[in-house]
Amino acid sequence: MTATENKFRPGPILLMGAPGVGKGTQAKELMARWGVPQISTGDLLRGNVASSSRLGLQAKQLMDSGQLVPDHLVEQMVAQRLSEGDVTAGYLLDGFPRTLGQAEWLDRYLAGENAPASLAALEVEAGQSTRAGASLPLVAVSLRVEYTRLLRRITGRRICPRCGSIYNTYLQPPVRDGFCDLDGTPLQRRDDDSEVVFEDRMHAYETLTAPVVEHYRALGRLLEIDGEGSPETVTGRVEQVIQEARSQA
Ligand code: AMP
Repeated sequence: MTATENKFRPGPILLMGAPGVGKGTQAKELMARWGVPQISTGDLLRGNVASSSRLGLQAKQLMDSGQLVPDHLVEQMVAQRLSEGDVTAGYLLDGFPRTLGQAEWLDRYLAGENAPASLAALEVEAGQSTRAGASLPLVAVSLRVEYTRLLRRITGRRICPRCGSIYNTYLQPPVRDGFCDLDGTPLQRRDDDSEVVFEDRMHAYETLTAPVVEHYRALGRLLEIDGEGSPETVTGRVEQVIQEARSQA
């Protein structure tokens, strides 16, 4: 079934988990299956760094050292992205929220309390909410993978800058070492995928993001999924639990 034939409306879905757990890979696959966008705050920030925007200049040093970008900057960026027209059937938030402050901001946003004035005006004009899946409760999916495997996933990760394909030098190497199988472009390693920065990113995850998982557990919105195994196996698990959760909503 193609994405356009598939009428499944997932509403707002959060993909959570430690660095390297496979959030981006899963988001890309689910995006293709359901025809809803992946909203990755890491990708949006890297886009800002690449274009040397004001936000990018503020974020680069923090990102390179594995620290989080301040909440208000990321929240502004997410609000802007969520005001675009492609989110009405749902979306996959990848890498956001990463702090309790961001989670509380998102709860308020989805409840309609802090939508930008321009978006609120648009909604009144259209007689409807443009906030994606506003009628569906948010579902938070937390993926779990064992520490040493996370380290291999991160330090072995290589990305094609042209088509976005993701490889792993240990687990899923390209046919020709260092080049994309699909378009032959030299693969790149993210600046923050070194072992040293991985430790800092794990520290940020454990201290700042793990409480977000507990926040959604307390709200009864958390689905925990085993992230070990092939990407296809994990996608099957994620798809199944989300569809079950939505059929009970
Ligand atoms: P990611 O691609 O999700 O691993 O994110 C890469 C880096 O971008 C992180 O290590 C942070 O520096 C920054 N970043 C991404 N998402 C957020 C967020 N929600 N809040 C703060 N910083 C973020």
